[in-house]
Amino acid sequence: MIPIREFAGQYVAVFGLGRTGLATVRALQAGGAKVHAWDDNEIARDRAVEQGFDLVDINKRDWQQYSALVLSPGIPYRYPEPHRVVKLARMVGVDVIGDMELFARAVNDLPEHARPKIVGITGTNGKSTTTALIGHILRKAGKDARVGGNIGVGVLDMAPLHSNSIYVLELSSYQLDLIESLKCDVAVLLNITPDHLERHGGMQGYIDAKARIFNNQTRQDFAVVGMDTMPSQIMMARLSMKQRQNCIGISSEFALGRGISVVEGQLFDSQNGRASSVGDLREIKTLPGQHNYQNAAAAYAACRALGLDATVIMEAMASFPGLAHRQEVVGKVGKVTFVNDSKATNGQATVQALRSYSRVYWIGGGVPKSDGLADVRPYFNHIAKAYLIGDAQKQFARELGDDVRHVNCGTMRRAIAEALHDAHASDEPDPIILLSPACASFDQFRDFEDRGNAYKQLVSEMMTETEKLRASLV
Ligand code: ADP
Repeated sequence: MIPIREFAGQYVAVFGLGRTGLATVRALQAGGAKVHAWDDNEIARDRAVEQGFDLVDINKRDWQQYSALVLSPGIPYRYPEPHRVVKLARMVGVDVIGDMELFARAVNDLPEHARPKIVGITGTNGKSTTTALIGHILRKAGKDARVGGNIGVGVLDMAPLHSNSIYVLELSSYQLDLIESLKCDVAVLLNITPDHLERHGGMQGYIDAKARIFNNQTRQDFAVVGMDTMPSQIMMARLSMKQRQNCIGISSEFALGRGISVVEGQLFDSQNGRASSVGDLREIKTLPGQHNYQNAAAAYAACRALGLDATVIMEAMASFPGLAHRQEVVGKVGKVTFVNDSKATNGQATVQALRSYSRVYWIGGGVPKSDGLADVRPYFNHIAKAYLIGDAQKQFARELGDDVRHVNCGTMRRAIAEALHDAHASDEPDPIILLSPACASFDQFRDFEDRGNAYKQLVSEMMTETEKLRASLV
C-alpha cells in the first residue's frame, strides 16, 4: 500500500466504495487522515462494513470540515451532470480529486532523486494488453516494475514508492478527468474512437480527457502516440508543434518515416530516420492480429524510451503469456481450437478478433449495443456459422440474414455443443470456435470475466468428456 500523508490530521471524504475507493480509504488512514467513507449503494456499503470499514454518511455532515473529496472514477464528475456530492463539494470550495491524483502528489513530494518512474497507458482499446505487456517486458529485463491502476490492483494498493521502481499504470478517461499533477516519464496513447461520450459531454470532451495523460511532461519525457486513428494523429501533430516532450509515433497500419511501425507482422524501428527490422510479431502467438501489433509497437516504443535494448525487448515479448478473456486460447477438442474473447463487449472489439482469423465458428450475443453488428458486417465472410445467445439472438439473426448461416442457441452450453459438432464435421484441418460476443454480458452473466470463465469451464468439461470417451474406446 502507498500511505498518503498529505491530509494527516485532516478530514477527507471518500465517495464510492469499489475496489479503488476502499484502497483509497486504507491509504489515507495509513497516512493519518480522518476519513469519512460513503457510497449511495447499499450493497457496496455492506461489503465495506463486512471488510471492517467504518462508514459515515457524508450527506449529513458539515462539508466545511473536509479538506478534499476523493471521488471514484465511475462517478459522474462533469457529464451527463456532476453527481450530487461533486456539486456539494464545489459549493463549499472543497477540492475534488481521484486516487491517481493522490498518488501523483505523493510522488511529486519526494525529492527528485527518490522518485520512481511512471509509465501511463491510455487509449480506447488495448490499454490492459499494452499495460500488462510493458510490465512483463520490464520485469523480464530485471526491472522492479509494478502494474496497476485501471487493471489489477488500484494504484494506492500498489507496493510503496521506491526510487528504482517503475509504475506501469493503465489510465481510463474517467481517471484522467480527475488528475492534475501526474507527470508520466512515458505516456502512451494508443488510439481514440468514440466511447463513453455521455460521460465526457461528446467527442471533444473525450479527446480532451485522453490528452491529459501528456500534462506536465518536460523535455526528458516521452509521448508514444498511435497514428492509426485520426484524433490521436491530430494530438501527435499538436504535441510535436509544442515540443515540450519527445514524441514517438507508432502504427500497425502503415510504415512511418520516423517512429515505430509494423508492416505485415514485421516490427520496424525508424526513430533515427533509417528503418531497421527488429522482429517478427507473427511468431508471438499470444499477440495475434493487427490490433495487437499496435499494442506491441507501443510497448516496444515505451521500453526503448526507458532505455531497454531492442533485442532484450523482443526476447521478453516472445514469452508474454497474454491476458485472460482477450483472444485467449483455452483448449482443444480433437482438431477444434477454442478461443475466449469475452472482453469483446462491442462490435469494434469483435472486428479485431474476426480480422485475426480467416474463418471461425462464431459464438456471439448477450446485451447488444445500439449499433448491433454494423461494424462487424464487413467481416461476415470470416464467419463459417454463427451460434447466437442471450438477448441479442433475434436482432443478430435478423442482421446476419441470408449472408451468414446462423442458429439461435439461447445458452452458452448449447452454442458450444452445436459449434463443436459442426466444426468437427467440417473438412477444415484446424477449425476455430471463437467466443467474441459483440455484446455486454449482464443478461446471463455478472460481467465479461464471469462469461469468459463459464466458457472456459464448459470447454474444459468437453475436453474431459472427450478424454474419457477416448479412454473407454482404447
Ligand atoms: P482495454 O483495456 O482498453 O479495454 P484490452 O487490452 O482489454 O483493452 O482489449 C479489449 C479488447 O479490445 C480485445 O479483446 C480486442 O478485441 C480489442 N483490442 C485490443 N487492443 C486493441 C487495439 N490496439 N486497437 C483496437 N482494438 C483492440
